[in-house]
Amino acid sequence: MTVLVTGGAGYIGSHMVLALRDSGERVVVLDDLSTGHRDAVPEGVPLIIGDVSDQALVRDIVAQHGVSALAHFAARIVVPDSVADPLGYYEANTVKTRALIAAVQDAGVGQVIFSSTAAIYGEPEESPVSEEVPPAPINPYGRSKLMSEWMLADAAHVLPLRYVVLRYFNVAGADPQGRSGQSTPNATHLIKVACEAALGKRPGLSIFGTDYPTPDGTCLRDYIHVTDLADAHLRALAHLRGGGDNLVLNCGYGHGFSVREVIAMVKRVSGSDFPVTEAPRRAGDPAALVSRADKLPGLLGWKPRHDDLETIVRHALEWERRRA
Ligand code: UDP
Repeated sequence: MTVLVTGGAGYIGSHMVLALRDSGERVVVLDDLSTGHRDAVPEGVPLIIGDVSDQALVRDIVAQHGVSALAHFAARIVVPDSVADPLGYYEANTVKTRALIAAVQDAGVGQVIFSSTAAIYGEPEESPVSEEVPPAPINPYGRSKLMSEWMLADAAHVLPLRYVVLRYFNVAGADPQGRSGQSTPNATHLIKVACEAALGKRPGLSIFGTDYPTPDGTCLRDYIHVTDLADAHLRALAHLRGGGDNLVLNCGYGHGFSVREVIAMVKRVSGSDFPVTEAPRRAGDPAALVSRADKLPGLLGWKPRHDDLETIVRHALEWERRRA
């Protein structure tokens, strides 16, 4: 009963590996180390370096490790990067997901947890946004993930396949015990960038757009602690093992913070008044993305433990200091 974690050497995947290990599960990681790190995979967890679309490799891993469930994290995730390289994103996030799903199906694995994103909502008219709002992504990243959601749903009609799709809002923070955190080179995500600025690893940061129709003119996002997110995956796994239905669930806390509020929190927690400049809007950014967050607790009994921006920032900073 091993869980195959693709992207397990990456930021969110490595926290899933820790969560699985902490609860006594067997894990095997498949990662090409394009953005992940060998060190992020704990000792004792097999790391296979390879491509998720290498079907012969995937079938071998399933057979050799007794894999019964797949948690598919490996993906490209940067919105502006997807605008610049759409074909690369469809390849990484859609085409390779198709190959992976087909390979695990061939090998007899019928339980899939898929990492999706709030970017599939685009510029939602309602905020907070519920899972029932029709998807309308506004960038190639969101579309590449939505196509994979649809592919899973279509496949599950005719194959012995059950899935939980988790739509992540803005994932941040780090393992409270300091065992993992975000190490992605050239990271672009706000809390990561702000922590680097606070510790002098970069000269400062820019706010991308101050003329959005939000209270302070900067974008609103729903920041979720990576450890709470990993816990949502454990609950999804238990649901699938218990014979539960296919589900599509938002992963967020249900409240948003503006870019300025996040920066103010990082300055306060770090005690560093790093330089901040105002810059034009970034391509593909919606003004507000906040989750309606009742379905995940209601259906899977998920109880977040770190729903607090200060805690998220503190853990992110502790990780960033450790990496200094
Ligand atoms: N952002 C910013 N400066 C930065 C990085 C991000 O102003 O250096 C803003 C970005 O424009 C967006 C919000 O912070 O409004 C969250 O962006 P992030 O890249 O963290 O996540 P996304 O919502 O794009 O997945």
